[in-house]
Amino acid sequence: MQNDKTTKISLDILTGLCKRRGFIFQSSEIYGGLNGFWDYGPLGTELKNNLRDAWWQDMVRSPPVGPDGEVVNILGLDSSIIQNPRVWEASGHVGGFNDPMSDCRESKSRYRADHLLVYLPASGDGHGFACLTGNEADAEKRIRKQAKADPSAYKVIPFPELNPADLARVWGPDATGPGTLTEPRQFNLMFKTYIGAASGEDNLAYLRPETAQGIFTNYKHVVDTMRVKLPFGIAQIGKSFRNEVTPRNFIFRSREFEQMELEWFCHPDEAQKWYDFWVAERLKWWESLGIRAEYLQRRDHDPDELAHYSTACADVEYRYGFTDPEYGELEGVAHRGDYDLTQHQTFSGTKLEYFDQETNTRVLPHVIEPSSGLTRGVLVLLNEAYREEFVPKGDTEGGPLEAVPGSQPPEGYEKRVVMRFAPRLAPVKVAVFPLLKNRPELVEKAKTLHADLRREWAVDYDQTGAIGRRYRRQDEIGTPFCVTIDFDSLEDDTVTVRERDSMGQERVAIGDLRAWLRDRGL
Ligand code: ATP
Repeated sequence: MQNDKTTKISLDILTGLCKRRGFIFQSSEIYGGLNGFWDYGPLGTELKNNLRDAWWQDMVRSPPVGPDGEVVNILGLDSSIIQNPRVWEASGHVGGFNDPMSDCRESKSRYRADHLLVYLPASGDGHGFACLTGNEADAEKRIRKQAKADPSAYKVIPFPELNPADLARVWGPDATGPGTLTEPRQFNLMFKTYIGAASGEDNLAYLRPETAQGIFTNYKHVVDTMRVKLPFGIAQIGKSFRNEVTPRNFIFRSREFEQMELEWFCHPDEAQKWYDFWVAERLKWWESLGIRAEYLQRRDHDPDELAHYSTACADVEYRYGFTDPEYGELEGVAHRGDYDLTQHQTFSGTKLEYFDQETNTRVLPHVIEPSSGLTRGVLVLLNEAYREEFVPKGDTEGGPLEAVPGSQPPEGYEKRVVMRFAPRLAPVKVAVFPLLKNRPELVEKAKTLHADLRREWAVDYDQTGAIGRRYRRQDEIGTPFCVTIDFDSLEDDTVTVRERDSMGQERVAIGDLRAWLRDRGL
């Protein structure tokens, strides 16, 4: 088990690896990039698809057993990104999907006001210094440099609580002097677009800021066509867009991202039971992917954090490298009551009640909504998988040592970067190597095995460099198994399989290889 020091992984390390090994790139980088947008490279796409497929498999195709012992019923959906703008009036997004922002007149930076902290001198006089949450060290450095003072003589308050009269003496995070930050004002996060040739307000539409509303607007279709009985769920995975004021922390908060959302429709009398069930179930699911339990936590929202229609909401939080030792949101599970169906019923004029044939009664279902970020989940998987180790070189004796990420190996050791993805999620499942690339009989047999295995899994083929180097390349992208064809393979049809985490090796008959791999989680 690693200690906190060895597992706190900086975003610089993760973004470096992601760029170097083809997981995630800055969008349109050759044109200077675009803040808040990211592209998934070959390995990032596989990883994201594997997480997406795991969610779909475990939520839609083979969902969990409910609190009464019955397997729950969940159906899939794929609704459009651009919808009738009335949808967003009904959902409250047009009127209320706002974040407070503050601009810096000097640097032209824009900040989420609720993400800014201000250091003010406890004595009352003198300049204050603002910073983004998580960057407190920057503010403290500037206090020492600019005000020649000790940061402990300052009190820290959230920017929205700052008295507007004090704005004039506060330095913005990127400013070279005080008084450049504007008072917070509300900013709507919806991306606008125009439909058809005209660009007037009549043609205004929005890119969806969540996938959920597409589920509510299709709820009646699903009830009418799929012979469902309450309770049941509708699930959707897809892109969402939010014009975030301060996209940051790599893919944690971006302007285009993907969500995995379930709307669980149930009888109002049973809503609390299902809320408790889904909160527990979702936490368990993230753990089932190999995320350490102590890096996940449930956080129940305080009553004053809840939307007016919501009776309860809990977040599944993860201890990201940049929040450590604190936790940040990964998924929210909300008890939404009948708010959404009521709103759509009122705005559309379409009845959305469920008719229960057994009891001959009508009811407007209540909704429990587990809503998670697929792309944010990818960040969790990357953070969770990343390890550095020092492995003995040549004559050095002993096993690998755990390393502080970013540190240099001691004499006699070399660094191994290894992504410990669960086999189910690893972008490449198996790598096949011929021992030597200049021996046609080895190459041919390795290529045949590669072609055979890739019918079932994502499989790499590599014949370049020493076997040790090839192992390192696969370790760094998290390939759980490497298979080598050597001279014995030509005689007895066996191969050496090397396991990523233990680095242990085993001889396996080619005929048994698929079953052997399946037994180990592929
Ligand atoms: P926050 O308070 O962090 O802005 P939120 O509470 O508004 O997030 P929800 O609307 O509940 O988020 O969205 C559900 C999930 O979608 C979040 O738990 C997160 O995983 C993901 N998500 C939301 N906004 C973003 C974003 N800008 N970038 C990436 N993922 C996001």
